[in-house]
Amino acid sequence: AKRKGKNTYCCFNTELEEYVMTRVNTETRLYEAIRKQDFVLHFQPKIDLQSGWLHGVEALIRWQPEGQKLIYPDGFIALAEEIGIISQITEIVVRQVCEKIACWQQGALAGIPVSINISAIDFSNSAFMNRLMQMINESGVDTHLLEFELTETALFTDLEHVRKVISELKAYSIGISIDDFGTGYSSFSYLQQLDIDYLKIDKSFIQSMKNNEKSSAIIKSMIDVARNLGLKVVAEGIEDENDAQMLCLMGCHLGQGYVFAKPCDEKQLEMYVKNQFRR
Ligand code: C2E
Ligand code: CA
Ligand code: CA
Ligand code: CA
Repeated sequence: AKRKGKNTYCCFNTELEEYVMTRVNTETRLYEAIRKQDFVLHFQPKIDLQSGWLHGVEALIRWQPEGQKLIYPDGFIALAEEIGIISQITEIVVRQVCEKIACWQQGALAGIPVSINISAIDFSNSAFMNRLMQMINESGVDTHLLEFELTETALFTDLEHVRKVISELKAYSIGISIDDFGTGYSSFSYLQQLDIDYLKIDKSFIQSMKNNEKSSAIIKSMIDVARNLGLKVVAEGIEDENDAQMLCLMGCHLGQGYVFAKPCDEKQLEMYVKNQFRR
């Protein structure tokens, strides 16, 4: 029995060891990726539901280890937050976006607004947010073309801090979106207290709206409240043409999702834009 016990322990130990090793390995590789800037941005169109025109794009990060497949954010953003290196990733994204916008000034992608996901951890750090704004300033990019997407978690801290940072961003003409709305500590009260431009309804609501009257009712009331507060509403994760039409009828301004376009690289985005003009 003792032997068996030892074996079992051994087994468990091996699994645990593997888990720890994989994690340590990912951590080490992530540090190196930051050093080597092994990240690329994909861009997903946001569409004006009334006109069908491109309104802007969301920048979505991918980790590109040399000679290997892309790693999606779900595979490393949480880890980066946990080990305290998310701000370095955010800096890389902001820098790349500013470079892209500058690059795009000549061609088909000129003047397209780009939104950036800002982790709640970064948003809570005033010094870091100031550094970001300084960086953006120094890049000389037209700040009207920049938007930050914040989750509800970012807002659910010290309201004075939140108000201050948001008003500083607005002073720089950077737009503000509330991302994944409805999944966090949802509260309409901060929407009226803060200078927010867009509310993005989380894709979980959109994806359950088909054949589900309750989901549709929740979506409709989120749209109504947001509109009454003067916010623009974005529905994310739209995969179905009927849902897009329905959302448009409900008064939702913008839509994002596979039904319009998947996140894609810069070249594909350029083709998308050119095709749109040809239509
Ligand atoms: P998010 O900000 O909610 O971004 C939307 C996610 O939904 C993206 O996944 C996008 O590819 C996916 N999506 C878009 N349309 C559809 C659709 O029609 N159906 C479905 N099922 N999914 C759709 P992605 O690119 O894997 O990003 C996942 C999350 O990682 C993002 O969620 C965001 O929270 C985070 N993230 C991405 N880029 C960054 C970044 O640069 N910085 C930070 N801090 N987080 C990022
Ligand atoms: Ca987002
Ligand atoms: Ca979202
Ligand atoms: Ca999300």
